[in-house]
Amino acid sequence: MKQFQYSRPATQQAVIDAINKPGAKIIAGGTNLVDLMKRGVTAPDKLIDINHLPLKNIAPVKGGLHIGALALNSVVSENKLVVAQQPLLSMALKAGASPQLRNMATVGGNILQRTRCAYFYDTTMPCNKREPGSGCGAIGGYNRMHAIFGASDKCIAVHPSDMCVALVALDATVIVQSKKGTRRIPFADFHRLPGEHPDLDNNLAAGELILGVEIPDNNFAKNSYYLKIRDRQSYAFALVSVAASLELEGNTIKNARLAMGGVAHKPWRLVEAEKALIGKPVSAETFNIAAQIAIQGAKTYGGNDFKLKLAPATITEALKHASGLV
Ligand code: SF4
Repeated sequence: MKQFQYSRPATQQAVIDAINKPGAKIIAGGTNLVDLMKRGVTAPDKLIDINHLPLKNIAPVKGGLHIGALALNSVVSENKLVVAQQPLLSMALKAGASPQLRNMATVGGNILQRTRCAYFYDTTMPCNKREPGSGCGAIGGYNRMHAIFGASDKCIAVHPSDMCVALVALDATVIVQSKKGTRRIPFADFHRLPGEHPDLDNNLAAGELILGVEIPDNNFAKNSYYLKIRDRQSYAFALVSVAASLELEGNTIKNARLAMGGVAHKPWRLVEAEKALIGKPVSAETFNIAAQIAIQGAKTYGGNDFKLKLAPATITEALKHASGLV
């Protein structure tokens, strides 16, 4: 591992000053960054430790719930307000990683974690995300875990987070601060598709610090479900995951939120499928129709062909659970 400097600036303002310097990187839980450094995928000159900043709060705000960037994944998943008001987020967090990792990983770090594409982590292999212009090992290679939506001929990686799938479904906002002031980024606009620049995972500008996320109030608490399909029961990334939330009026779907993980370079919101659910009765047929709409436009790469069947089946199953049909 390349040698690096370490600092712990005393204040939030001093942190923002420090991260404006070239070669500086923020460290909080370090559950992804340290792996990347050990493998030589990333090599910062200086780590800026932010663990002491007052960004761990989970509290109601006008019209929603604020969760600080340094709140631990384990703490958020068990928080009484989160469990009562935003159970989808709690379920998604509990589906992620392992208890040990959730005890270290922060909300901000979860948002910023990088893909787990094997070629990205192997510095002997081509990877446009790690080394722009070197090629993509996964296209024509091992791509079982890879994207079926929104990929490009430069990169077919997926975003690995479960938490982010729930946050995009719940219309969360990311709040960031820089020398220019505070900025609010809709969650759906935070992560990027790979396009010509797979090296860029998100739209966070240089020198911006994530302060937290806000989730607007909703009526989904009674009918939410996060379903993650993976190769083993724990500590595995999603082959496909689905965040499903419904607002029901009797047997009719008044409002719906649907998003998928393990299928795109960003958490993938299923807006057309949501529209197909609204106003319809709760039934297996309604859910099957929405699931078929959800996978329109999907493209596979050989190793991940199975996702064309797995994705709609997972959507249908998640909706059955969310609605109480099973
Ligand atoms: Fe790299 Fe993306 Fe290709 Fe994986 S899919 S090898 S991350 S360019």
